[in-house]
Amino acid sequence: MTATHVPGLPRVEDGQLISTNPATGEEAGRVPVADETAVTDAVTRARAAGLWWQGLGWEGRKTRLLRWRSLIVHRIDELAALTHSESGKPVTDGLMEAAAAIEHLDWAARNAKRVLGPRRVRTRLLVAEHTGHLEYQPYGVVGVIGPWNYPILTPVGPISGALAAGNAVVLKPSEYTPMVGQWLADTFAEVVPEHPVLQVVHGLGDVGGALCRAGVHKIAFTGSTATAKRVMAACAENLVPVVLEAGGKDALIVDADADVAAAADAAVWGAMTNAGQTCVGIERVYAVAPVYDRFVEAVVAKAATLRTGEEIGPITMPKQLGIIREHIEDALAKGGRAVLGGADAVQAPYVSPTVFVDVPADAAAQREETFGPTLTITKVADADEAVTRANDSPYGLGGAVFGKRDAIRIARRLRSGMVAVNGTLTFVGMGNLPFGGVGESGFGRIHGEDGLREFARAKSITVRRGPSLLPAMTFERTPAQVRQIVKALRLLYGRKP
Ligand code: NDP
Repeated sequence: MTATHVPGLPRVEDGQLISTNPATGEEAGRVPVADETAVTDAVTRARAAGLWWQGLGWEGRKTRLLRWRSLIVHRIDELAALTHSESGKPVTDGLMEAAAAIEHLDWAARNAKRVLGPRRVRTRLLVAEHTGHLEYQPYGVVGVIGPWNYPILTPVGPISGALAAGNAVVLKPSEYTPMVGQWLADTFAEVVPEHPVLQVVHGLGDVGGALCRAGVHKIAFTGSTATAKRVMAACAENLVPVVLEAGGKDALIVDADADVAAAADAAVWGAMTNAGQTCVGIERVYAVAPVYDRFVEAVVAKAATLRTGEEIGPITMPKQLGIIREHIEDALAKGGRAVLGGADAVQAPYVSPTVFVDVPADAAAQREETFGPTLTITKVADADEAVTRANDSPYGLGGAVFGKRDAIRIARRLRSGMVAVNGTLTFVGMGNLPFGGVGESGFGRIHGEDGLREFARAKSITVRRGPSLLPAMTFERTPAQVRQIVKALRLLYGRKP
């Protein structure tokens, strides 16, 4: 390490990207940086590998994906330790992240054929002599671009869907967590040694840009909203479709009949797990007046027990420390009160738990993604006001509601892709639920049935099964036959419902 090097800041030396532990500055590993030609070559290899992979069929792919799943389970400690060494997150968090990734891999492998496989569809009046067939065919090569905050789960989600659907994948992990990305590709190659079905290319943001332009058939991006827009612009050049999983500013609502202790526990975990560096982390709470005081007290009591360097790991990306500090200073300057932590919370590379009350709605801490172990709690009159305020955000990723009678109704009204009722972040743990946002949080879905369809194109086939009684689609049809078709239409569709 050079004397001027900032711990955690990746650097490139002699064509090698060097990953370091953000807490200690220790080297976690090094990998070669890809140039544009290397990225294009990887995509060219992936095209051929993808055809072989597709040719294995549903069962062949399922067996191999489940073998990869088992390998990850057997070596989960190694993966969690590696994640700890380059992101700084506690090993236990790395284990839980890997567990969620395993869930998604397992579900995608087992369900791809059912969701995407060929099926007959019912015939319709206009072409009654034809049968309909539907299947979902792979794109070919999917480029996956991932962030550093969940370096196992965020790529494995789209990789699972893409591979199960029959695509080859080229992964570009974040420059902060290249070793985890490399581990994923290396272990996959152990169970699928024949062809490079899952490859990894390393480097800074420009390598991600090169991947968008390298002839991939789809890009699955997870990262910040600003980069998502750049990725979409790059992909627009060749009409490459995208699924974008971007940032969030998730809200938790505490209703009057909520279990306040459970809500406080979940709010603290949702806000501070992974030191708050979670796209679906809770950043804002709206608590109704009757439970507000009790809730604030319980949150502070709970959050005060968390220790930096233990439950709260370091901030992985040094420049994020500046953003967190700005949000804290801005909240205080605008009249917010820190009931825990506050002005001195940022002690690089750590941020101690910080809880604010009375932060005005226009403060950065209420509007922009903070990505640190901080939380604002706002008192509201009722659940309606809570929903209005929660929805007053350009983001719409996840969210949470604590309550009983109206909780699900409130959850439905939140403008977001996912909501946990009486829990936080729980939707991430279900392989059969789609994951994705609205607005500035992106579009498209990974995970679940929608996540499988995201990586396949619908293919419709009609097959004639007999002569046409009412030929509609031929110049041979007579005016009398057209009248008969119209008559049939009136009979079938003319009635008022
Ligand atoms: P970034 O947007 O900075 O980076 C994401 C990925 O994009 C990285 O691999 C990055 O490479 C790459 N990249 C950077 N510039 C370009 C470019 N011009 N073209 C193509 N690729 C590029 O996000 P972070 O890594 O900082 O991740 C944190 C963000 O991710 C937060 O906003 C968080 O909310 C969001 N996120 C969203 C999730 C979701 O599912 N919705 C889940 C997890 C995180 P490099 O690192 O080398 O710059």
